[in-house]
Amino acid sequence: MTTRKRLAPGATIGILGGGQLGRMLAMAGARLGLKSRIYSDVVDAPAADVAAGLTVGSYTDAQALARFAAEVDAVTYEFENVPVAAADAVSPVVPVFPPRAALAATQDRLIEKQTLAGLGIPVAPHRAVDSTADLVAAMTELGTPMLLKTRRFGYDGKGQVMVEADADPAATLAALGGVPSIAEGLIKFTREISVLAVRGQDGEMRFYDCPENRHADGILRTSTVPAAIVPRVAELARTHARTLAEALDYVGLVAVEMFHIEGSDGGRLVVNEVAPRVHNSGHWTIDACLCSQFESHMRAVAGWSLGSTERHSDCVMENLIGHDVEAWAALAAEPGTAVHLYGKTDARPGRKMGHVTRLTARAGRG
Ligand code: AMP
Repeated sequence: MTTRKRLAPGATIGILGGGQLGRMLAMAGARLGLKSRIYSDVVDAPAADVAAGLTVGSYTDAQALARFAAEVDAVTYEFENVPVAAADAVSPVVPVFPPRAALAATQDRLIEKQTLAGLGIPVAPHRAVDSTADLVAAMTELGTPMLLKTRRFGYDGKGQVMVEADADPAATLAALGGVPSIAEGLIKFTREISVLAVRGQDGEMRFYDCPENRHADGILRTSTVPAAIVPRVAELARTHARTLAEALDYVGLVAVEMFHIEGSDGGRLVVNEVAPRVHNSGHWTIDACLCSQFESHMRAVAGWSLGSTERHSDCVMENLIGHDVEAWAALAAEPGTAVHLYGKTDARPGRKMGHVTRLTARAGRG
């Protein structure tokens, strides 16, 4: 169903996925008087604590998804591995935003790169790897060290390995599970940044200032705003995000992760990954902007006008990963620090348990 209509306060948005992103979406929606119902395949979904309802079901159960859709006024999702078939089960009943095309283009790293390259957006040199022979050829053509990533279901550094010159190709493929993969040339970047952009149902777009993102073990550790990039590079980043969002007729918040390679004219950008959803590198917008990425997304899904993406403070967002969260009491006592805890009980290593955003006075234009 593609009818575009504005939902009034009191309407209900269905969210596929029940993690912290769904939780923060539901909280932002609640501030606007919009209710959220969560669809998750686990009973203890962190988003359910703050939502109007929880439906537990499989993302492959088309009938359960259609029943869920009948209880809500629009559907969105908070993770990109929602099967395209799930969006198809829901869309005859209520509108789904972001659109199916966004899911289809971003779930598979090879299709994602082909989509971006087809739009003239720079990506890392890459090769499809389906066999040991493909990997051997990719090692020669792309050079080593290089990265081998699974085409699907990779996140937070999972599903990827560094391939050195002396690697055993067969063993390397087996270590990734022998699934369809993509080899990527290693980009020698100066820094990683991301663009957080929102597009409304009327096609209007707004952008947040780019954060600079530091990862450790493949997991985002900090996002610092503003990033140390010149205005020309920031404009280039926004242009890439706009080109993609317009091509997909996107509605909602989209995050585009990029490598910045410094150069004499400010440098160039290579896009690494697109998330068709709210993103960890945008959590700082809750505390440093009038309208957070979560509110922006809910406004777009509900067909409202977009809110202000203006940033009023400089900030550093730090993820609380695993046992980091045990410092919650000390963090809660820190001046100038906003604490966000996701209500997860089991602090497993590598699990995102919360985040803090440390605010300082805004120094200049980002
Ligand atoms: P990804 O799972 O694709 O987001 O990759 C996780 C992290 O690995 C990125 O944030 C980068 O720090 C690093 N990385 C991924 N791909 C490349 C690449 N082609 N060249 C250099 N570093 C990369």
